[in-house]
Amino acid sequence: MSKTYKRVLLKISGESLCKPGSFGIDSDELKVIATEIVKAAKVGAQLAVVVGGGNIIRGATLAQEGAIVQATADQMGMLGTVMNGLALKEMLEQLGQQARVLSAINLSAVAETFIRGRAIRHLEKGRVVIFVAGTGNPFFTTDSAASLRAAEIGADVLLKATKVDGIYDKDPMKHDDAKKFEHLSFKNAIDKDLKVMDLTAFDMCRKRNIPIVVFNMKETNHIAEVVAGQNHGTTVTVD
Ligand code: UDP
Repeated sequence: MSKTYKRVLLKISGESLCKPGSFGIDSDELKVIATEIVKAAKVGAQLAVVVGGGNIIRGATLAQEGAIVQATADQMGMLGTVMNGLALKEMLEQLGQQARVLSAINLSAVAETFIRGRAIRHLEKGRVVIFVAGTGNPFFTTDSAASLRAAEIGADVLLKATKVDGIYDKDPMKHDDAKKFEHLSFKNAIDKDLKVMDLTAFDMCRKRNIPIVVFNMKETNHIAEVVAGQNHGTTVTVD
């Protein structure tokens, strides 16, 4: 029997806010993902979102060009996630869902600074909390931020919304015979060298016993259904 989670951390990539293969923020895509998040919030779970920034800047990629050192490029990447979070909040509120943006970097004129207790208070009041600026530190990813915030707010689950509908034994975009896993243990995923999230993020979830569900974000109603405890994609748990 499915059971609704009580408190959920949803990780969406920056790419979910733009058309496939392009950059920046596309209003139509923004509305699609915001609509799905509103449906998920209506299921009744407390919902926090970590938004990525790959649609604007990826620090490591920019640094490779040689002009900007990675520590700075990563700060720029984190600021990109702030723009995404502001866009998402705006759209959620237009759709009637209260939301707050909490930033890991102090930007007091545009967003609240992340304070754990404040984030939990917002969640208890039914607001969608959007965590931006990643962990606030260069050389990390927003996947790491997602696992960190999930642990801090005591989330029951980390939902990783991606372009594919779960974890496969090989890249399903390249191999027709790729097989999807319904369920995996953390150990199995490591042994099979499956790329679920970056290892820092993955290890945090493993140690804190936070299950991860990897599923397709663009399938209508899937975010809400996963929040309601239905099985979509692949679930990674301790056993
Ligand atoms: N970033 C960072 N520290 C963090 C989170 C993100 O430096 O804690 C930077 C990093 O440059 C990264 C960029 O922000 O490339 C965008 O985040 P990410 O690549 O995780 O976004 P996504 O792939 O989820 O869209």
